[in-house]
Amino acid sequence: MPTPRKTVFLDRDGVLNRRILGDYVTSPAEFQLLDGVCRAVAALNRAGYRTVVVTNQRGIAIGRMTRADVDRVHEVLSTGVSAAGGCLDEFYVCPHDRDEGCACRKPRAGLLDQADVSAPVDFAASFLIGDSDSDILAGKARGVTTIKVAGPSQADPDHLAEDLPAAVDIILARNTADS
Ligand SMILES: [Mg+2]
Ligand SMILES: [Zn+2]
Repeated sequence: MPTPRKTVFLDRDGVLNRRILGDYVTSPAEFQLLDGVCRAVAALNRAGYRTVVVTNQRGIAIGRMTRADVDRVHEVLSTGVSAAGGCLDEFYVCPHDRDEGCACRKPRAGLLDQADVSAPVDFAASFLIGDSDSDILAGKARGVTTIKVAGPSQADPDHLAEDLPAAVDIILARNTADS
């Protein structure tokens, strides 16, 4: 079995790209990367982290978009990060609605578990960055260090940061201190 890897789980909307309030990102045309995120992901990769996107997309369940639409958006995201020298090839998507009782919709931890099945995760050495309390709760359910961006939290995250680049600075500072 391969050695478990330290991993940074990244929520998508509001962390990597601009969140569309009250609606979904249904196509690449609606997808707008936030400042500095591609470089920030590349810095995590250089520090040895596997970087994995974990995203709830209930717009699929309600027919607002298809899984193929979501995949097209992720190709754009992947290409942008690659151009900055980083790697964002793993996307775990919950396509279910709130009332479906699935194991993967955050705050449940099923998307993190899917990543662990694909290649084992060293959860104790891993992080989750999200802009919603449901993200933070999913991370806490697997014991990863949690960082809440873009505002306060009721979910008792380990750290608060203004945005993804600031969250990555926290991780890299800790990584240096640990090694
Ligand atoms: Mg979000
Ligand atoms: Zn689900």
